[in-house]
Amino acid sequence: MARYTGPVCRQCRRENNKLFLKGDRCFTDKCAVERRNYAPGQHGHGRVKVTDYGTQLREKQKIKRTYCLLEAQFKSTFEKAERMKGVTGENLLVLLERRLDSVVYRLGFGTSRREARTLVRHGHFQVNGRKVNIPSFLVKVADVIELREKSRSIARINEALDSAKRREGVSWVELERDQFKGSLKTLPVREEMTTPVFQEQLVVELYSK
Ligand code: SF4
Repeated sequence: MARYTGPVCRQCRRENNKLFLKGDRCFTDKCAVERRNYAPGQHGHGRVKVTDYGTQLREKQKIKRTYCLLEAQFKSTFEKAERMKGVTGENLLVLLERRLDSVVYRLGFGTSRREARTLVRHGHFQVNGRKVNIPSFLVKVADVIELREKSRSIARINEALDSAKRREGVSWVELERDQFKGSLKTLPVREEMTTPVFQEQLVVELYSK
């Protein structure tokens, strides 16, 4: 499937928000949002009058880019959220957080969702004892995600696990560092999804037009 391969910091600058797409670099003063806090491109410094539609669109792009999804994948996740009971916007974020690449990232195996996605694609994980290499695989409560035996000596993964404490911790995952495994304790909690700040209701308004 096609994938955005351009500079990811550009996406943060476009959204005027840190989306944490580059791992540890996002926590340093090398972050492009901190260094060049204006939109990318020739007209990045210009003033733009933002319409309601524009605000909703930017919010959708922000969430989509944070979770590294393309439009079709994002739309189908939204449609699934709409069919579920409860508040559609919250359902959407919960579904995105339950993706295997997101859970792997939250557990700390990768320094960014992008890296976590690559690790999943390369078959480094098993869920409940079975190899799963599909980033969109939906993890259920009590599922156990484990790094495969042969991948446990990879320095990059170990470094990521050691640096994970620098990132925002969330209560819905639990890692057993020594065992290279973790689990989804509860469903993701909306109140804890605070970086970046999402206004998911704007996405609901956008798609309901
Ligand atoms: Fe780049 Fe990370 Fe800063 Fe975004 S938050 S601009 S990905 S360094």
